[in-house]
Amino acid sequence: MKNLGKKIIGVLLILILLSTCNISLALDAEETKLNNEKSSNKAKEEQLEAEKNKVTEEKNATVKEVAELDTQINDYESQIQTLDGQISDANAKIQEATAKLNQAQEDYDKQKKMLEERVVALYESGETNYLDVILSAQSVTDFISSYYVISEIAECDTELLNEIDKKKNEIENAKKELEESKNQLTSARTNKQLVASKLEASKSEKQNKVNQLSESEKNLQAKIDEIKRDNAAIDQAIKAHHAEVQRKLDELRKKQQAQQNNNQSSSGGSSGGGTSGTSSSGFIHPVPSAYAKVTTTWYYSTGAVHGAVDYGPAGINGQPVYAVADGVVSETHALMTSYGNYVIIAHTNGLYTLYAHGQAGSICVSQGQTVKQGQQIMRVGSTGNSSGPHLHFEVRTSPGTYNCRKNPLNYLP
Ligand SMILES: [Zn+2]
Repeated sequence: MKNLGKKIIGVLLILILLSTCNISLALDAEETKLNNEKSSNKAKEEQLEAEKNKVTEEKNATVKEVAELDTQINDYESQIQTLDGQISDANAKIQEATAKLNQAQEDYDKQKKMLEERVVALYESGETNYLDVILSAQSVTDFISSYYVISEIAECDTELLNEIDKKKNEIENAKKELEESKNQLTSARTNKQLVASKLEASKSEKQNKVNQLSESEKNLQAKIDEIKRDNAAIDQAIKAHHAEVQRKLDELRKKQQAQQNNNQSSSGGSSGGGTSGTSSSGFIHPVPSAYAKVTTTWYYSTGAVHGAVDYGPAGINGQPVYAVADGVVSETHALMTSYGNYVIIAHTNGLYTLYAHGQAGSICVSQGQTVKQGQQIMRVGSTGNSSGPHLHFEVRTSPGTYNCRKNPLNYLP
């Protein structure tokens, strides 16, 4: 019966341990999940950013093309304007020429009529034999020249008619030339207008493309903003986890103070842990006393700063690693490189202790878990950047910074 009682207590203890462990494990697993989500978001954001940059580049190129087309269109428009001016000049000249032509025609008709009247007068006076020849003449000029030869008609009349004929020809030629150049201008203008409207069409097509690209640029930016918001929320959640660690640490601090007040009379030692000796800082060695041998100090043998101490005597592999003082687990990690499997513990005196290169799968505490001095947190191993089994131990004043490392020998017993 005595054994059964022990068994029941044992089972109960295991159950209690498991339940607290589960809570901490959940917190840890969630932070890992959040961190994974965050880095996958970051990758997505980078991809979207690259996509957006491509779209922006394309948009800028198209905007440039539109500007070039605009310049061409403006050029054609000003050319068309010049041609329009030339056409209206040509029209005015044609009008002027037409008026002159009409005047010449009128003068010509008048003179011709006058001449005919004289011829009729001569006919009536009886000179019929010449008149038959004259009247059968092919053209007026022909008629005039014939008439001149055979009659007494005034010399000035003939000259006048010749002049009119000449002028009429000149005007007709000039009119033809003007008509021709007017036609040329008109067709040039039509061509230019055709090209200008084609340019206009391709410009509006390009403008549409710019609008589309701007739209997709905007959409990509919206997606990027969304991811950024997501990651900000994740950061917030991670911060909350760290706040939880701080809250637990405060709890522990209060508890320690209460205990200190209670134990004022009795010389209080820390709860056990299989190691002997506590330093003035309240730290014990992080490994069993039989292995508490520092093999590398603050400096390497080369003189370079190590920033830690190593416990690496023969046979240390697989030995338990202890929390050097009461605290709250701030972080646990299982890396393939660097520190390998490692744990950071926050202590109530503001210091953080880091334990690295633990055996794979040996970490038995989780983020947010309160640990007692001497409590096992993992086993000594050689994971990460390690040449052989040893415990790499650091003391920090801030959990995430190399610059905040302190020489552990000043804190250890
Ligand atoms: Zn080391």
